[in-house]
Amino acid sequence: MKNIYFDNAATTSVEPLVVETMTEVLKDVFGNPSSIHLFGRQAKVVVENARKKIANLINVTPSEIFFTSGGTEAINTAINGCVKDLKIENVITAEIEHPAVLNSLKKFSTQIKLNFVKFDNKGNVDFHSLEELLKINKNALVVLMHANNEIGNLLSIKETGEICEKYNALFFSDTVQTTGKYKIDFSNLNLHFAVCSAHKFHGPKGAGFLYVKNGIKINPLIFGGNQEMNMRAGTENIAGIAGMAKALEIASDGNEKNMLHIKSLKEYLIQQLKINFKNIIFNGDCEERGLYNLVNFSFPKTEKTEVLIYNLDIAGIAVSGGSACASGANKPSRVLKALNCDIERTAIRVSFSKYNTKDEIDLFVEKLIKLINA
Ligand code: PLP
Repeated sequence: MKNIYFDNAATTSVEPLVVETMTEVLKDVFGNPSSIHLFGRQAKVVVENARKKIANLINVTPSEIFFTSGGTEAINTAINGCVKDLKIENVITAEIEHPAVLNSLKKFSTQIKLNFVKFDNKGNVDFHSLEELLKINKNALVVLMHANNEIGNLLSIKETGEICEKYNALFFSDTVQTTGKYKIDFSNLNLHFAVCSAHKFHGPKGAGFLYVKNGIKINPLIFGGNQEMNMRAGTENIAGIAGMAKALEIASDGNEKNMLHIKSLKEYLIQQLKINFKNIIFNGDCEERGLYNLVNFSFPKTEKTEVLIYNLDIAGIAVSGGSACASGANKPSRVLKALNCDIERTAIRVSFSKYNTKDEIDLFVEKLIKLINA
């Protein structure tokens, strides 16, 4: 039996060419990039070439990219720097942000005032509410994610950036779910901080970066040596960094083609689900808009749907009940709760990659019918 992997918002398989790139680095480049001898210089070249490649792909300068261990660390670094170094006191965010954002903001609850924007029942940010909050919170930091990892809703970062600019606010967007999926030109947005995690686009786990717009100076979260232009101490994960740059290059090259393929899978799944299940509900805005690789839907709670995700797993199909962080806990989704969805229902998140096929969707729907109606 071939297992089916439909949980690409949690993580993706590593691209063979990325494995090749990383293997070469692991085998041939073992120097410490901080050493001044040949071995160190070779390692430094790998890191700096990766930085240049990534900067080029998102149209920023290499000095605006700081490598981290992934999205969570990049998010913590940005928030820590905004509060401690930029002395931000007012933050405007949303209840449906990733826990990496919400929990690192909550860490500063005695120093900052947290304001939450309103959103519609599909999870789209209400820009009027954002403006109202910006009017009363001077010099604020706005933290709003580009795409929601559970429901796939997309935020217009261009429009949000323009609103932030009007009110002189800093803007930080969690771009973990969109980097590598869309061609984003970070330079022409009024965006001050953004983050990336390589494992979301067929790169390795444990590699990511923080983008900080030129002119903004924050201090590191991790202290020690002066690696990463004094922004992140610790010997660099050279193979991971090289693998991330390669993965982003491959994702950017195949962007249009992959998007068309994955979008057609999403449309086909929605069509099949609607045909076969009369009482299905689609959560968030995934039916009409949203991330092209993600569908979140729910069934009324019954004895069968309650154990659906486990039974799908037994049948060789990996889906999620929400985010990867939430699914292990087996708790109702915080995001769906905030959207006032009926959390008694069983929610399923399907997230595709370029490696998925229409045949896999047919098998999935067939299994769903059996498991729900059996
Ligand atoms: N932000 C979002 C929207 C995510 O989906 C994730 C990962 O699930 C993260 C942040 C955390 O990234 P990482 O797994 O690299 O720490």
